[in-house]
Amino acid sequence: MNMTSPILQSYVLGGWYTSSTGLTVIPSALDGADVARISSAGIDFAAAAAYARQTGGPALRALTFHERAKILRGLADAIVARKEELYALSAHTGATRTDSWIDIEGGAATLFTYASKGRRELPNDRVLVDGGVEALSKRGSFVGQHLYTSLQGVAVHINAFNFPAWGMLEKLGPTLLAGVPAVVKPATASAYVTEHCVRIMIESGLLPEGALQLIAGSTGNLLDHLSGQDVVSFTGSAATAQKLQNHPVMARESVRFVAERDSLNATVLGPDATPETAEFDLFVKEIVREMTVKAGQKCTATRRAFVPVAKMDAVEAALRARLEKVVVGNPAQEGVTMGALISASQLRDVRETISKLAQDATIVFGDPNTPPSGTDPNGAFITPVLLRCDTPWAAPNVHEMEAFGPVSTLMPYTDLVDAIALCNRGAGSLVMSLFTYDPEVAVAVVEGAASFHGRVLISDRDCARESTGHGSPLPALVHGGPGRAGGGEEMGGIRGVKHYMQRTALQGSPRMLSAVTRRWIAGAPEVENEIHPFRQSFNELRQGKTFTSPLRVITLDDIEHFAHFTGDTFYAHMDEEAAAANPFFPGRVAHGYLILSFAAGLFVDPAPGPVLANYGLENLRFLKPVSPGDAIKVRLTAKAKNQRNAEYGEVTWDALVSNQDGDTVASYELLTMNAL
Ligand code: NDP
Repeated sequence: MNMTSPILQSYVLGGWYTSSTGLTVIPSALDGADVARISSAGIDFAAAAAYARQTGGPALRALTFHERAKILRGLADAIVARKEELYALSAHTGATRTDSWIDIEGGAATLFTYASKGRRELPNDRVLVDGGVEALSKRGSFVGQHLYTSLQGVAVHINAFNFPAWGMLEKLGPTLLAGVPAVVKPATASAYVTEHCVRIMIESGLLPEGALQLIAGSTGNLLDHLSGQDVVSFTGSAATAQKLQNHPVMARESVRFVAERDSLNATVLGPDATPETAEFDLFVKEIVREMTVKAGQKCTATRRAFVPVAKMDAVEAALRARLEKVVVGNPAQEGVTMGALISASQLRDVRETISKLAQDATIVFGDPNTPPSGTDPNGAFITPVLLRCDTPWAAPNVHEMEAFGPVSTLMPYTDLVDAIALCNRGAGSLVMSLFTYDPEVAVAVVEGAASFHGRVLISDRDCARESTGHGSPLPALVHGGPGRAGGGEEMGGIRGVKHYMQRTALQGSPRMLSAVTRRWIAGAPEVENEIHPFRQSFNELRQGKTFTSPLRVITLDDIEHFAHFTGDTFYAHMDEEAAAANPFFPGRVAHGYLILSFAAGLFVDPAPGPVLANYGLENLRFLKPVSPGDAIKVRLTAKAKNQRNAEYGEVTWDALVSNQDGDTVASYELLTMNAL
């Protein structure tokens, strides 16, 4: 053991902690030299979990989604500002500059996305309303509303070695945005990158104390101290996932468990794609990219490539020609396009799995057992390995075993039904891709295979230039897959935040549920007085503040004037006979937009004031036609407020337009921006 390599520190209970016993050496992927030593011996895991719950949780929950989003943005800025320190460490993992870019800047970008989604898609509040109000009673005094609140536990993130920064940050973004503290446990093999990334985030001073802890080394007995308010989010092998899932405390306490694990991701060349089409080239390029980026150590990498049987030789030849150009070596050297596996032990695993795959298939490119020329024999280098299996239905290993390296198997299919069945034989994958220009092929594959896959990329000549590719999970889209892939789901925009929150069905009176959800609900008290709501600033305006207009008659002249003025001379407004023949109308009726315009004319208070802009309508429904001679009035009620910044906030108004008989003609939500 090299006694001079640094000992990675854990960050627990508000400070950095160095273990001095039980140290494991972490070797460099490039030459096997010691990079660091690691151990978590001596950490009080029960205390760490309690610290997260008692210190980090309350501090995060006291913040609104917007305040948490601001922290995420700051963390991402801090990482970007010090990214070169991370690139330097990442080089030891065998990563090329591009591989590290995916990990480091891709990780920061995930935080940026969550910061921006948090500000744009979540309220400046601590609770999140889910769906609409459910009417549960005849007279409306008893209603229901679903509401998300933050879990009061700790999120334990157990990450894989392949993306030591991104793997942590893609889990951390949604977790912190949800108001839940995290304990991060990186994979040993690349923990030195994660440790430094955590150091950067802690040193930014942005995180509330207890919001983030790091365990460098094993998780010890941490799982023994979890409860039903906690979440374990895991990325790694199926074997470890199973071990964690079967932990007695996990089962007994119903600890939420999210898993991303081995995945035999498939890609399909559509039957329409010939060597002359763009889709054929795109398919070949993408397979090689998936094999070589991160030396194929990607949970989303293509492992199984299916092509029409008649095109097997052409695809094989094209793949070989491209793979010939791959230069394996130390990424520090000029011209190297693929780096090393993470470690010698991973190299052994990959070689062993290839030998099992080779029981079903023939290696048609690469030599797994001979180190690529010019590479350090102590490094974990391997050539890309392409296998070909002409009998995919008689080849169980290729559908069940993941060689977590630059390895893919080419296989034929007879028709689309066969291709779909072969994809699904992966028994649940994170992603599959399809290269076709035929929408009918896409429909058949999506309907036949989507339920086995967390993500489906349909690639063609129209989107290829801008496509993010088969292997890139994106923060806005769900990452995870059913069955073998673990059954978990991460990210997916705000969906990922909800995994760290509890949805509760609330029942009660409109008044009570309005108070709890901070959204006025019909039936809750209204405040109506001589002050027009448009004369009140954002801060003065109270939820439930209501304005009711007088009635205004809509004449035939109004309808005709509006029709000619706007050009909307649709027959329902202009032709009595044709309108009467329409099953929805008694005869000529007012335009929906005329009703909205008159409603605005009825509720606005015209003088300059705190209302700065009308910026939208939501949930608009026209419920009853308005005939010439009918009268309408509008009731406008302040429903919800969402402060955007130090100068203004958005107000959601409940607008109800009714006629002279009190029947509802139209309902919608109006959005305005109001000065504080
Ligand atoms: P592991 O399942 O061994 O490790 C994943 C994470 O779990 C690591 O942080 C590891 O820590 C931790 N871990 C292992 N055992 C326990 C335990 N008993 N309790 C708590 N935590 C534990 O996977 P690897 O990263 O070593 O990769 C092995 C294989 O997993 C790959 O070859 C590949 O097939 C698959 N894999 C799949 C991925 C996916 O997203 N689908 C991603 C990465 C790998 P430590 O490193 O300290 O042991």
